[in-house]
Amino acid sequence: MPDLPNDLAAFWLPFTDNRGFKAEPRLLARARDMHYWTPDGRQILDGTAGLWCVNAGHTRPRIVEAIQAAAAELDFAPTFNLAHPLAFKLASRVAEIAPDGLDHVFFTNSGSEAVDSALKIALAYQRSVGQGSRTRLIGRARAYHGVNFGGVSVGGIVNNRRSFLNLPGVDHLPHTYNHAEQAFSRGEPAWGAHLADALEDLVNLHGAETLAAVIVEPVAGSTGVLAPPKGYLQRLREITRRHGILLIFDEVITGFGRLGAPFAAQALGVTPDMITMAKGLTNGAVPMGAVAVADSVHRAIVDNAAPGIELFHGYTYSGHPLAAAAGLAAIETYAEEGLFARGAELAGYWADAIHGLRDAPHVVDIRTIGLVAGIELAPRADAAGARGKTVFHRCFDDGLLIRVTGDIIALSPPLIISTAQIDEIVGRIRDALGQVG
Ligand code: PMP
Repeated sequence: MPDLPNDLAAFWLPFTDNRGFKAEPRLLARARDMHYWTPDGRQILDGTAGLWCVNAGHTRPRIVEAIQAAAAELDFAPTFNLAHPLAFKLASRVAEIAPDGLDHVFFTNSGSEAVDSALKIALAYQRSVGQGSRTRLIGRARAYHGVNFGGVSVGGIVNNRRSFLNLPGVDHLPHTYNHAEQAFSRGEPAWGAHLADALEDLVNLHGAETLAAVIVEPVAGSTGVLAPPKGYLQRLREITRRHGILLIFDEVITGFGRLGAPFAAQALGVTPDMITMAKGLTNGAVPMGAVAVADSVHRAIVDNAAPGIELFHGYTYSGHPLAAAAGLAAIETYAEEGLFARGAELAGYWADAIHGLRDAPHVVDIRTIGLVAGIELAPRADAAGARGKTVFHRCFDDGLLIRVTGDIIALSPPLIISTAQIDEIVGRIRDALGQVG
């Protein structure tokens, strides 16, 4: 067991109430398959795949060994005008499992970097096809696209946006959630496809010749699991295509089997021009993100460029050998164990079990799709978010890791979860809800 640190001051935790956390720290020391263990040896069932990352479960030997072997063989290699075999192999493997036509892969180190890379690629594409006036980027309300300036700007979370500067020339579509029409939905809600038509309004307002790209999460994760209305993404695809606007799916959460296919694009039957990914790309084991890019977009940028560098963008660690090794081993694990299909196989059991919490105290909505769930609680009148936080603490102290954003519980367990463990998640959440005021 690793030693407990005796000084918690130096590490400034991200997206954390540091004063609250350090007054009552909860630490994770070890993990295996479906579980974490605390430094004092308590077992915690992982209901969130870490942070939507560990789709094959924790510390899988194949992935661990691949990282160890890569570290001993080639610790680092630049990928600026040089490269190494593992990065090419992983790019090919990602292209193989990505939707047809998304044949090129640009590596980053995180989801945030993947998003900002995709936005830059969209602008580069429009310039390269003689559409340099297309510079406006369109996101959506209640979207999370990471924390870099581009991602925050197209994102739709007010606390993230108002804390910093935002890019100019950005618009937002309305979010797709409507409690009255969609409460207690399973899969794609029937109501709401017409909300995609808000894009037509932006075309009418600004002119298509100013619009570069639209970015959406197929399922908004961080703002409480909002599944797309049936037909919404198809409509967005049709409108973007008709007006020469690129469509980017941010699949940082939905990628790698969460919805029962490698990507949500395949599960939901809509192919965008780019897909951003991270998290499950390496099963969370080494930081890595990527953008899968349509051949037509890649070709326009690379073939039309003047001799020399065609995209002035990249990271020291793009395609890092350890991350590439982890990514290859992760995808092999997903494929060998049929985990891409498992989200679909388990979706019915999962939905039945989670929707069984409908009558639990404080629950005002439940949304499930694939192996994801959002359970929305009524906020306490005096303190929004307080109830969610208490449930999180109760669950953790009772041996279950959940994620809460405000008063919404989000669940996304590793895809290796058993039906008994699904029941365990539901039972522990029910107990916790019964204990909170
Ligand atoms: N996009 C989406 C949809 C995400 O859910 C996240 C992270 N939760 C990100 C981007 C950012 O990823 P990262 O934290 O790796 O930068």
